[in-house]
Amino acid sequence: DAKERGRNGVRFFNQQMQAEVSARTELATGLRQAMAQQQFVLHFQPQIQGDTTVGAEVLLRWQHPDKGLVAPGLFIPVAESSGQILQIGRWVLQQACMQLAEWARHSDTASWYLAVNVSARQLHDVHFVDEVKKALRDNGAIAENLVLELTESQLLQDIDTVIHKMQQLTALGVRFSLDDFGTGYSSLSYLKRLPLSQLKIDRSFVRDILTDANDKAIIKTILALGQSLELAVIAEGVETEPQYQKLLQLGCQQFQGYLFGKPVALAEFAKAQLGSFTQR
Ligand code: C2E
Ligand code: MG
Ligand code: MG
Ligand code: MG
Repeated sequence: DAKERGRNGVRFFNQQMQAEVSARTELATGLRQAMAQQQFVLHFQPQIQGDTTVGAEVLLRWQHPDKGLVAPGLFIPVAESSGQILQIGRWVLQQACMQLAEWARHSDTASWYLAVNVSARQLHDVHFVDEVKKALRDNGAIAENLVLELTESQLLQDIDTVIHKMQQLTALGVRFSLDDFGTGYSSLSYLKRLPLSQLKIDRSFVRDILTDANDKAIIKTILALGQSLELAVIAEGVETEPQYQKLLQLGCQQFQGYLFGKPVALAEFAKAQLGSFTQR
């Protein structure tokens, strides 16, 4: 009867919750080992303007001993709720700055940048500004070569504190990009208060740009917004030539996506971009 089914339903639900809790605990343990045993790796995906690579986004991967390369979507949410993202994020920043300094020593990368994703937990941490400064200083990297990607949802809380942090870093030369733009709840009034330099059109709008009139309209709106707020606009997730042509036609100037290059490990990235580095 209904009561019996209800009870089974509750039991099933509990079992499922139990399984989820232990999966998360296991993952958190795995992440601790991953840090200790240096199983994290960075991949790099080019960002294009005209016919040159102007920079790259840094994308985290977990080289798991059994599972192979694990995508960030599978472990960052857990690292975020366990707080481990603070340590992981610090490592990503340090590595990115080390790479920037290395490139600056060996090639003419003055106008190059690396874009690093920052999680909500990191941004709202009281040590955030100091840690970005420390990563730059420890590695001798140039602040102008660092872009930090934030998402709209991170900006809903403590906006005045966040703006103050952004201003401190902007004063050094660090730039900010608003990732996955269009999917969150940006209000125009705060958008103009934020010291941003770039809006990043979410790839969900790019995907159907040729067939979905709404997506095309949203992209046009974002491009117009970028123009009036004097922000660069980059489209992410560009996979096909027709998508690229349509975006160009709408006035978009910066691009990232499989059409130009998938995220790859450092050695492969450096080889592919060799032409973009002017050797000193
Ligand atoms: P995101 O910052 O929006 O990164 C873009 C995602 O789109 C990446 O997924 C990238 O591999 C993927 N992508 C790029 N071009 C294309 C394309 O043409 N087609 C398709 N279908 N996908 C494309 P990935 O590497 O799995 O990263 C997922 C998310 O994980 C990132 O989204 C970002 O939010 C987060 N993430 C990655 N690395 C870090 C990190 O170091 N720290 C933090 N906090 N988050 C990170
Ligand atoms: Mg990003
Ligand atoms: Mg994005
Ligand atoms: Mg995304």
